Amino acid sequence: MNGSRYDILFEPVQIGPVTAKNRFYQVPHCNGMGHRAPSGMAAMRRVKAEGGWAVVCTEVCEIHPSADISPHNEARLWDDRDIPALARAADAIHEFDSLAGVELGHHGFRAQNRISREIPLGPSSHTVVSYDPVQSRAMDKEDIRNLRRWHAAAARRAKQAGFDLIYVYAAHGLTTPMQFLSRRYNQRTDEYGGSLENRARLLRELIEETKDAVGDTCAVPVRICVDELVGPAGLCSDGEGRDLIEMLADLPDLWDVTVGDWSNDSRPSRFGEEAVHEDYVSFVKQVTSKPVVSVGRFTSPDTMVSQVRRGVLDMVGAARPSIADPYLPNKIKEGRLDDIRECIGCNICAAADNTYTPIRCTQNPTMGEEWRRNWHPELIPARESQDRVLVVGAGPAGLECAVSLGKRGYEVALAEATTELGGRVLREPLLPGLSAWGRVRDYRLGQLHQLANVEIYMDSHMSADEILGAEFDRVVLATGSSWRRDGVARYHRTPLAGLDEKVIYTPDDIMAGRIPTGPTVVFDDDHYYMGGVIAEKLRDLGLDVTLVTPAPVVSGWTANTLEQPRIQKRLLDKGVTIVANQGLVGFSDQSAKLACAFTGRETTIEANSVVMVTSRTSHDSVYNALAAMGDQVRDAGIKSFSRIGDSLAPGTIAAAVFSGHRYAREFEKPESDEVPFLREVSELGPWSARN
Ligand code: ADP
Ligand code: SF4
Repeated sequence: MNGSRYDILFEPVQIGPVTAKNRFYQVPHCNGMGHRAPSGMAAMRRVKAEGGWAVVCTEVCEIHPSADISPHNEARLWDDRDIPALARAADAIHEFDSLAGVELGHHGFRAQNRISREIPLGPSSHTVVSYDPVQSRAMDKEDIRNLRRWHAAAARRAKQAGFDLIYVYAAHGLTTPMQFLSRRYNQRTDEYGGSLENRARLLRELIEETKDAVGDTCAVPVRICVDELVGPAGLCSDGEGRDLIEMLADLPDLWDVTVGDWSNDSRPSRFGEEAVHEDYVSFVKQVTSKPVVSVGRFTSPDTMVSQVRRGVLDMVGAARPSIADPYLPNKIKEGRLDDIRECIGCNICAAADNTYTPIRCTQNPTMGEEWRRNWHPELIPARESQDRVLVVGAGPAGLECAVSLGKRGYEVALAEATTELGGRVLREPLLPGLSAWGRVRDYRLGQLHQLANVEIYMDSHMSADEILGAEFDRVVLATGSSWRRDGVARYHRTPLAGLDEKVIYTPDDIMAGRIPTGPTVVFDDDHYYMGGVIAEKLRDLGLDVTLVTPAPVVSGWTANTLEQPRIQKRLLDKGVTIVANQGLVGFSDQSAKLACAFTGRETTIEANSVVMVTSRTSHDSVYNALAAMGDQVRDAGIKSFSRIGDSLAPGTIAAAVFSGHRYAREFEKPESDEVPFLREVSELGPWSARN
């Protein structure tokens, strides 16, 4: 699209000795695959390059066994044997004339070294950040010399593996040079402690030595934290953060600028808009002549242009937007803005890394499946028959299924009981902080409008009999689920007896506008976002709200999506009372009976009503009715009927989208007992009893 206002995004950028073909920069991001699944990692990066990103980086790459952050699956260059796995990624990225970057990292006292059993190293002796009963030892001069040698050796390996950008990583509190920089962590009294110049000494040495090792052909970017968000106790952008960049201004080939820890860098949409870091980052370009990149969940091309035109950034950094849409640059280039699959800021991608599993994404069901299932975000095989498919229910599962079947070329009818499409991604985005989640619906509706072979029927509640008479070859039920009212989840495995139904509410009630009055208990035994969001909504409406949970913290699973501390803080700030480690065991006469999760000791609190945020029940009655009809179904010409999404088993929105996509991909594939994806089974090492 020449002559467009987005042309500026496609200008080349010189980074040291290499040239990026445009301004789109996929910053390093974890993916739960790393050294354990190198083919999966390489194929995922390859798709980013194919989609137009000029720079595609790996996740953090451990340079030495003393940087072991297992069980997180990150890249590794411990020795030469790690080169081929990473070379696979570099080669894949080069196929599309993109530059390959690797983020070398030594994790200091953030490495528990669970596998290597090395003693963690650090500027001073600190407890490791997890609750592992482990402390680092303060590095002596020899340790520092060793670290510098390991880093240079890893840089040479990275060059051998084919990388064009070889990072020095000093951000997120995660790595040794950053820990030396921060007053909080560095209590040394030698030439590596005290003044900022001393604390920056290790970083300076690593940059210089990496340049000496590989700088003739490779760029050396530095990922830096300019503000730790702890005030003057740490680096801040109007204090030492700025002084540091001024001090090292033109030493690296590029500044990759971050703010705070990872949970701030990947700020969930519930707690931050696009370009949230601008105020902290914008000074950097004023004090360096080197290119500057930073992130901000950039999905809008206009925001990207504005960042470049106003001199905030030279390159548009992205992790999550490149996960949700690996083809973001190409779509902007081709003027296909309506086809952009915008990141919703839910951080399900981060949760995969935090649960040590291959990356997944709510918006992009192919993410992490590029190699093992051979799925591509933009390509899907053409249909294999003339079968006509009825998809019942237009939540995330039904919408994704209809879109993907439609793209394959099948004739599809999408029947929705209500007068609007979206199911839970219509309702939930109206809850506090979740508006960006509506993009799950927006993207799919945009795609449906382009598919003449998908017909949409609103206000069409389908019974089993109606389905039988509708004359389709295949039927997919995506009829969703509802929240239970009887307390069953983890704490109670059977229904709670003696509840006064009139004062029991569920999230579905709240979303439908049925709101309790007076003091209300939200009983959260779901532990994802819904309990906290419902408490926040009711509090915003002026109710006295007590959130009761058998867990030690509110919305416990959101620790994986990098949200938990912010959720708890927001609820406390708004005046929600939090009662942790307690189960709800009864409710009558305006009093909720609670029991300690450990001792069972009972207490009561006054309340008018209870909102049960516990578990959900699948809407499977239509499926069951079809199943009960036996031969009648086949006689009606229906070759198969299946369930997908929450109607099969309630789960995340990401799981519903994946389920709908998987159905469409595997449609007409013969049933098989084979493992449905490739695995990277490692070869057995040489065997000897060794004793
Ligand atoms: P999922 O997350 O699995 O996509 P949702 O609960 O978000 O599930 O969406 C289910 C959708 O199915 C809702 O929009 C609901 O109105 C619709 N639905 C449920 N039962 C029927 C039915 N029998 N006929 C048509 N639509 C239905
Ligand atoms: Fe964005 Fe959520 Fe996808 Fe992560 S999982 S890239 S936050 S949509």
